[in-house]
Amino acid sequence: MEELDTQTLRKYDSDYLWHPFTQMSEWEAADNLVITRGEGSYLIDSDGNRYLDGVAAIWTNVHGHCRKEINEAIKVQVDRLEHSTLLGLTNDRAALLAKRLIDIAPTGLAKVFYSDNGSTAVEIGVKMAFQYQNQTGSPGRTKFIAFDNAYHGDTVGAMSVGGIDIYHEVYEPLLFPTIKAPSPYCYRCSLTEDRNSESCGKLCLKELERLMEQHSHELAGLVIEPAVQGAGGMIVQPAGFLKTVRELCDRFDVLMIADEVAVGFGRTGAMFACQKAGITPDILALSKGISAGYLPLAATLTTRKVYDAFWGAYSDLRTFFHGHTFTGNPIACAAALASLDIFESEHLLDALVPKIAYLIERLQSLLKLPHVGDVRHEGMIGGIELVQDKETRQPYCWEDRVGVRVCLEARKHGLFLRPLGNVIVVFPPLSISLDELKLLMDGIEASIQLVTSDTLDD
Ligand code: PMP
Repeated sequence: MEELDTQTLRKYDSDYLWHPFTQMSEWEAADNLVITRGEGSYLIDSDGNRYLDGVAAIWTNVHGHCRKEINEAIKVQVDRLEHSTLLGLTNDRAALLAKRLIDIAPTGLAKVFYSDNGSTAVEIGVKMAFQYQNQTGSPGRTKFIAFDNAYHGDTVGAMSVGGIDIYHEVYEPLLFPTIKAPSPYCYRCSLTEDRNSESCGKLCLKELERLMEQHSHELAGLVIEPAVQGAGGMIVQPAGFLKTVRELCDRFDVLMIADEVAVGFGRTGAMFACQKAGITPDILALSKGISAGYLPLAATLTTRKVYDAFWGAYSDLRTFFHGHTFTGNPIACAAALASLDIFESEHLLDALVPKIAYLIERLQSLLKLPHVGDVRHEGMIGGIELVQDKETRQPYCWEDRVGVRVCLEARKHGLFLRPLGNVIVVFPPLSISLDELKLLMDGIEASIQLVTSDTLDD
């Protein structure tokens, strides 16, 4: 394989590449890292520098980079079958993985529909719910409830059920209208000054109930990120929130679409966040961790009840007319199967317990810093919200780029991080060791201290 020097690679990148979620004027002016290798919790650049991957290759990596068992499974599969199609054929890896997904999924989910990224997994769920209503005698149920601060992906349907203005506002005329429920963002609650989820009266759930009551005749489904609104700023839902949402969906006969694209596969300490909350959604969207961060793969799981609504004769036109070219790709499925094997052989969920405890302790201790307004945690996810003024919760201005600056500072400590505005994200591979987690948190703490103690105070 041709090995190019860093300068040439940077030039090719800057001449030809357009990066996602990136202002390219800044990108092209910077000396960007060129990653050429991965090893465990580390990414290694073209000059041989090692960076602890604090965001798990954008929330996907589970067992570390270049994990031997998954590499081997992929190599074996490449030599057997690289791709066929699920349109008119099946393949052994896709069938086996479907069985294993249903085995570990929340009880009651029975069928797997594959695609290849998180946005399509959600969009498939939305289309499924819409057509389900149409084919079960409720064609008037065409609308969806979605949440403020939600993120479900960047395709037009997924954006429609999103709620992050800076990403979605410009596309507003393209999006289908939804009914927006308030985000359970306790630190910045829009409904009450009482930011304690124990005593606030759960006004966000009351408002959701009111909206569902008002719109129940026209609702097809509700779309939610269980446990944590990820891209919205790692907003962790208060205890019991998800269960009440499930109860409301049952009461108003609305299909619950749970988007576990970010939190599925062990991230919350349970295999799926819905299981931790003791619920089963009607539709479950999975991606990212499904292939342990190796290859594009997604799955939308649903119940037999939803599946049966599409059942009929060929001529009935009740078919789910949806499918992507790489649906059920056997190499991606082989990676996913190898990942599930490691979950089992290493008792991975049990192994997370001390790491989660340590992460919580370290996150909470950050509250002593003068510009750490809030810390949020759920399993192996942390969000650290930096504020200009802790007393008033006044955020830093967007232009201060305080999150970006902390993450750049963290590179000096050998960390790779990517913020969400003023929120520093902690989302390492689940396989991270306790020593590495300590390194990660030490580097984050030092970087926050340095960046927030500079001239931003005046
Ligand atoms: N849903 C959630 C909860 C996500 O976090 C993301 C990606 N960050 C998506 C959907 C979209 O996934 P993808 O980028 O693979 O389309």
